[in-house]
Amino acid sequence: MEFGNYLFQAKKVAGFDFDVYRLKPETGRRGTPQDDMWNNIAVFGDNVSGRAHPEWVSESKRGRAVRGNNQFNLHWDVLCPTVPEFREEQLNYIENAVDQTGQPIFLNSWHFADHGHCTCERCTKLWKESGLDWFEWRNQTITQFIKDVKERVKTKLVLAVLPDPANADQRFGMDFPELYKICDAFNIVMFSQNYATSWYWEMIARAFRRIFPEKPVYSNIYVCGPGDDPAHCPPVDQLIRVSVRVMRTGIDGIIYLADVADNMIKFQKTVTQMGEYRDSLSDYGGQPALDLFNRWDKLF
Ligand SMILES: [Zn+2]
Repeated sequence: MEFGNYLFQAKKVAGFDFDVYRLKPETGRRGTPQDDMWNNIAVFGDNVSGRAHPEWVSESKRGRAVRGNNQFNLHWDVLCPTVPEFREEQLNYIENAVDQTGQPIFLNSWHFADHGHCTCERCTKLWKESGLDWFEWRNQTITQFIKDVKERVKTKLVLAVLPDPANADQRFGMDFPELYKICDAFNIVMFSQNYATSWYWEMIARAFRRIFPEKPVYSNIYVCGPGDDPAHCPPVDQLIRVSVRVMRTGIDGIIYLADVADNMIKFQKTVTQMGEYRDSLSDYGGQPALDLFNRWDKLF
């Protein structure tokens, strides 16, 4: 079992087994690779590159993959994954982050934007030339990118998967059986501003445990994000409960996201003040999460 601290700030936090830095989040802004944290890179979700090269943005019959296109759930602009120069630049960027730090690489947004993407001229041509079925072409395009990453990354390669265990192949070009062969660990992006109904989160964690049976599977849990109104962040009792519920599915850990270290520490402190609530979950079968919280009791 391993539990991670995942921040938009290059700061480690006590009480976790590892720390992750959002080196290049989907805003596209690039930080400094950290040599004592995992480095997390959003590849094709990249607002800065989308602004600089609007012709690189992924296209579909339902419009481009940009914020404001409400046909899709886009919180950032997503580039077409077959732009040769961007693809190469990102492979170099990923490789450099590993060479400079020797740390694991954790990728987000390494896939197609969503269903129906990408219908740009280049993708349409590549698909037709391949002679493959549309979905198969998309899967192979993405799998090849991850293979290319793996060739350059000698450290642990961790892949973030969106919380859709059933349709991710047709939506995003995620071929789980192939990716399972290539990558070292998986992280389910289970972000939400509340976790009122743990049932769904538990179900998703259980599904990914089954899809990736032997390699480590982590679940993301959302404490708070940049610019969040604290009133709209998940209540701490929900965070405690969902942690226990996902850990009883047999996954290997949780990676908690906050904007900055101070807010992660605030979350940990609040957890230590909720001993009675934690005790009420003692027979839920999610002991590894309760053990983590017990470790935090010693910090404050
Ligand atoms: Zn394209």
